Amino acid sequence: MEMNTNQVEAIVKKVLESLSNGSAPAASSAGSKAIPKTAKVAMLTALEKVEIKEYPMPEVGDDDILVRVEGCGICGTDAHEYKRDPFGLIPVALGHEGTGEIVKMGKNVKVDSAGKAVALGDKIVTCMIFKDNPDITMFDLNKQNVGGADVYGLLPDDDVHLNGWFADYILIRKGSTFFNVSDLDLDSRILIEPCAVLIHAVERAKTTGILRFNSRVVVQGCGPIGLICIAILKTMGINNIIAVDGNAGRLEFAKRLGASDSLNFKDYNGIEAMAGACAQKFDGHLADFAFQCTGSPVGHANIYKFIRNGGGLCELGFFINGGDATINPHFDICAKEITTVGSWVYTLRDYATTFDFLKSAKAIGLPINELITDKYPLSQINEAYKKNLAMTGLKIAVIPD
Ligand SMILES: [Zn+2]
Repeated sequence: MEMNTNQVEAIVKKVLESLSNGSAPAASSAGSKAIPKTAKVAMLTALEKVEIKEYPMPEVGDDDILVRVEGCGICGTDAHEYKRDPFGLIPVALGHEGTGEIVKMGKNVKVDSAGKAVALGDKIVTCMIFKDNPDITMFDLNKQNVGGADVYGLLPDDDVHLNGWFADYILIRKGSTFFNVSDLDLDSRILIEPCAVLIHAVERAKTTGILRFNSRVVVQGCGPIGLICIAILKTMGINNIIAVDGNAGRLEFAKRLGASDSLNFKDYNGIEAMAGACAQKFDGHLADFAFQCTGSPVGHANIYKFIRNGGGLCELGFFINGGDATINPHFDICAKEITTVGSWVYTLRDYATTFDFLKSAKAIGLPINELITDKYPLSQINEAYKKNLAMTGLKIAVIPD
């Protein structure tokens, strides 16, 4: 049987209509799939309880973007919300490490926050939301970090409900910053948000003037944050990196991501012995610079012992209040004249730098996508949280069914 193009189109249209419960795709939509009438949102409705709710697909205003979600990573912040709701957001649609495809957008949406053109079918990520200053772009805001703004995935629920990336659709509204990242593969796009945290930390570290091309660097803590830190340092051409952790598998992965050597704290009796072993590995020298990437107060107290006189420290392990740490200000900071910087979240500019980092890391063969160890369908998001809390994987991603 032969068919002309019109007949083929008619059949395709019929199939699409049946897929979308009888409704024809909206006129201004595009992409391989028709937009359904309802969206599925993973709503945290009580502690450790996520329910998949269905909401009507919202109207897309002149400044809005409707995105079909392709995936979103679980962040430590999501896990804290799931366990304890420290921000008091329940009921809340979580998920801020997400990415997806533009399936519908308002007539006023022409470019992303870097000024790059966007079209239906483009892949995007979101950054901060500036409700009071919707015209802001990355060029205006190099210094303010995300601590002063909202992000999708940590918003109170409202009548739209499509506020987090743990969903199959999300509505991006006026005042949001977003980037066209169509040139990155899905796994890289899921890793953008956590990588931006480390791009920011390394930029903070560079302000000390101590982190240089041939620096000896210690990275303490080899969860996703420490591992990404190592990959960024390697991409910058820093070749003397010692990874510190208590998990042999993570230390092996740290080496594949650019660490030149590793120290397992379970092999040493106390911090003095471990600092001595570190110096041995650095040809008799302590570290010029250290990144503290654990959320442990003992980890903070210990990190100074790895650092040489006149060295530097970036502390980025405490995204939330992890308690007090005890240090000796004389020996740890004053007598050694240590320069310290703190780092928390990121700026818009760091997001743009992150896209280049991900491409550079791949170009030199770092297995950065292997940071995503597990993928769960949206319908099994409770299991995904449990896997995250068990800490037996690295980055856990949730993918719409
Ligand atoms: Zn996060």
